[in-house]
Amino acid sequence: MRAAVMSLRFGEDWRFNVISMTDTVSLTLAKRRSEILAELSAAADPAPVLVAVSKTQPDEKLEAMLAAGQRVFGENKVQEAQAHWAERRADYPDLELRLIGPLQTNKSDDAVALFDVIETLDRGKLARTLAKAMDKLDRRVPVYIQVNTGEEPQKAGVLPDDLEALLACARDECGLDVQGLMCIPPVDEPAGPHFALLAKLAKRHGLTGLSMGMSSDYAVAASFGSTHVRVGTALFGAR
Ligand SMILES: *Cc1c(COP(=O)(O)O)cnc(C)c1O
Repeated sequence: MRAAVMSLRFGEDWRFNVISMTDTVSLTLAKRRSEILAELSAAADPAPVLVAVSKTQPDEKLEAMLAAGQRVFGENKVQEAQAHWAERRADYPDLELRLIGPLQTNKSDDAVALFDVIETLDRGKLARTLAKAMDKLDRRVPVYIQVNTGEEPQKAGVLPDDLEALLACARDECGLDVQGLMCIPPVDEPAGPHFALLAKLAKRHGLTGLSMGMSSDYAVAASFGSTHVRVGTALFGAR
């Protein structure tokens, strides 16, 4: 902003500066993206998919990330995701949108209509409303189950001991396509043991998807077999 203000003061054509600031954002984001992709490739083969977490980001940065070639995005609120993507979708048929935030049952229809993957199934009631929404909209959306690996009372996710029952409910009773597990480790603990636990649970239940790893630990997660890392600030800058 300062460049535009200064050029106004000096009577230059400020539009030129606004365009070059946009270019700077694009270059920075494209560079961060390629650095993270390189780190992921160095950490694991095959490397996990980079999910760009675009919550709270301005349109300019979404456009820059799309221009850099990014197509897989994570959002944690249904309404914000609609604002970000409902119209853009039409221009990017290969876009993949993943819901990574807690879902209220009354938003099931909207979530099923918009998202390509729902990562945060964590209770039987939600499994049933999602199944109903999918029937109604005739759209099968794969799901991941969120596991509260740290057993934190304030955090969403099914407890590890309750995973088997939820899986039976989601897969067998509701007929959902459960593809993997997702976790958010406690902030004050090393993430490695949580990633190892999630990988073990997935293997035990024959699930191949592992959504784990964020800005601070995506390389660690990759080394523990993550298939999808969810990266926000390291990619877009501070929210
Ligand atoms: C916001 C968010 C992220 C991204 O967090 P960063 O630390 O900014 O990379 C990942 N996963 C979930 C579930 C989130 O809500």
